[in-house]
Amino acid sequence: MLHETIPALPPIVATLFELEFSEFNFYLTGSRFFGGATISSDWDFITENNNKIENYLISIGFKENINLNYLDPMTEKVYTKYFCGCENNHASECLKIDIQICNDIFTKIKIRDILKNNFTDGIPGDKYDKSRIWGLVYNLILKNY
Ligand SMILES: [Zn+2]
Repeated sequence: MLHETIPALPPIVATLFELEFSEFNFYLTGSRFFGGATISSDWDFITENNNKIENYLISIGFKENINLNYLDPMTEKVYTKYFCGCENNHASECLKIDIQICNDIFTKIKIRDILKNNFTDGIPGDKYDKSRIWGLVYNLILKNY
C-alpha cells in the first residue's frame, strides 16, 4: 500500500492542466508556440468567442484584461490569470496565462500557422509590431480568398 504524498502542482501547471482537460479548445500561440520562450515566459492561447468559455475562464480565476489596445482584427478580448502574487500593478515579466477570445478562430489559426512557417525564429518586434504583422496577414488573406 502506498503512503506517499503527491506533491501539489505549481498553480500555473494546475491551470494549464485544467485548460487542457476542459471541454473547450485552447490553441497555443505567442512565444511558446513561435519560439524564443524562456522558462518564465507567459502562456498565450487562442479560443473562440463563446459565453460558455468566458464563464468557464472566470470560474477558474481569469479576469478580462481591459488594458489592451494592440489587438488584431480577430481578437475580441483577452482574459488573463496571473501567478506572480502581486496585488495589482503587474510588471511585464509577471508570470501569467493570456487567453485571446477570437471571432474568427479558423482564420486566426490559419494566420498563426502562416506566421510560424515564415518566421522560424519567432515573430519580430514588440507587442505592437507583432499585432501589426498579424493584421497585415489578415488583410492579405481577406484580399486573396
Ligand atoms: Zn504581478
